[in-house]
Amino acid sequence: MKLIIHGGFFSESSTNSTTKLAKQESLKNILTQCYAYLQNHTALETVVLAVEMLENDPLFNAGIGSQIQNDGKIRMSASIMDGETKKFSGVINIEDVENPIRIAEKLLEFDDRVLGAEGALNFAREHHFPKFNPEIPQRREEYEAKVAALGLGTVGCVALDQNGKIAAATSTGGKGFEIPGRISDSATIAGNFANEFCGVSCTGVGEDIVSGAVAAKIAIRVSDGFEIDKAFAKTFEELKPFDGFAGAIAIDKQGNIFHQDSHPSMFYGSFDGKEFDVFD
Ligand code: ASP
Repeated sequence: MKLIIHGGFFSESSTNSTTKLAKQESLKNILTQCYAYLQNHTALETVVLAVEMLENDPLFNAGIGSQIQNDGKIRMSASIMDGETKKFSGVINIEDVENPIRIAEKLLEFDDRVLGAEGALNFAREHHFPKFNPEIPQRREEYEAKVAALGLGTVGCVALDQNGKIAAATSTGGKGFEIPGRISDSATIAGNFANEFCGVSCTGVGEDIVSGAVAAKIAIRVSDGFEIDKAFAKTFEELKPFDGFAGAIAIDKQGNIFHQDSHPSMFYGSFDGKEFDVFD
């Protein structure tokens, strides 16, 4: 059983050393709780719980604590992919809910599995997800000071369970200060992908992640026989010509854990039941 999570990028302008420590502590705490949960739950159930816990921590840019868009509203995106069934589900630009990842989870039960904006919100209300305002005063201050400042702090998780099943989940409040209607990579297969060989969750500039098809490429390369580190190396090499800004975490079916970022530094942490490997 293996677990890796990420909390997006470290941005000098929005993260001081106290916040950095707090984020590391939070990652460790979530890893510990979710690893215990993985003992008797599936990879799919575990990635949803891990991302929900990350969404509930206002330090990260997902769920509560999400960035505000340029019209003053918060719109969030989240997705899940079950490596066994290959089902992908997600919500794009949803407003006024507490945990977008739980709505993505609910959508796995339906034929129409990716919903946007109003449709996603209507679906959430129909399924009894209550109204919730994810805004915190710090984001409003940043917004008012027009600090777009690449506040990258998306969250994600990949898990490998005891039956060898892999799942990936990703959730974001977006880049910050974007044009309403902008689509994040986080609820696409470029930002979140899993099959029976590999699961990947990304963070960074969504447009670059989509151009580089990052999560899907890494997982497909591993499926086609690449070692996980080589699959990352080739995919990140392909970001260079356009200076793509991306980071990704992954686990393959042998339990190899890997992460890489194009620009320092990404918050991530993994746990194999014995040792933590947490970004410092
Ligand atoms: N990838 C996210 C987006 O572009 C942002 C992030 O990872 O922080 O919406």
